Amino acid sequence: MPSPRKQPVESRHGPAYPAPVERLLTELTRLPGIGRRSAERIAFHLLRGDAESANRLAKAVTDVKSAIGHCAVCSNLTESSPCPVCASEKRDRSLVLVVEQPRDQIAIEQTAMYRGLYHVLLGRISPLDGIGPEHLTVADLLARIDDPTKNAGGVRIEEVILGMNPTVEGDGTALYLMQELQSRPVRVTRLARGLPSGWSMELASKAVLADAIEGRQKIKE
Ligand SMILES: [Zn+2]
Repeated sequence: MPSPRKQPVESRHGPAYPAPVERLLTELTRLPGIGRRSAERIAFHLLRGDAESANRLAKAVTDVKSAIGHCAVCSNLTESSPCPVCASEKRDRSLVLVVEQPRDQIAIEQTAMYRGLYHVLLGRISPLDGIGPEHLTVADLLARIDDPTKNAGGVRIEEVILGMNPTVEGDGTALYLMQELQSRPVRVTRLARGLPSGWSMELASKAVLADAIEGRQKIKE
């Protein structure tokens, strides 16, 4: 009976690095879009650099989890809840612009053209990725509409502006929300289509976004 050929001790990805390096690689590859190769590049960069910059990164990661949470009203990222937008008495609290991600809210806010509140879905419906409305903040939005005490200042919401990105998933999400809002006593509008299909809001110019808000189209009275 032939003896099995002796194999060098290797992990699934080749020879193992020292344990602390492997631990770092394991954590890095859990991040979205980071494969083993990218994780190695980041890890070696950190190992080559000074301790101070590595500590800055570690502290930034720790701080973001301890200091940042979601606004209880609009679900946006914030250091304090309610967030500064929801807390501002200068905003029109009867108007809510629904966006997919915090970066979309930032893009709209930079236009300085919008004076209402936001609702951040924290994603979009994407059946292929297994993301349904229950994974987003849809229930919180509907609760805000149904119960004014859950909106900023206890103000009743009169208009919901759908501000999803013009993609297949964005359109699907808007369609779902329209169905949910159909029976509710709110006006529903959507941003004018100044944005070419497939573009993201964060890449649109301020002028285009401002036009999209100004020229928003009525879907439901
Ligand atoms: Zn808020």
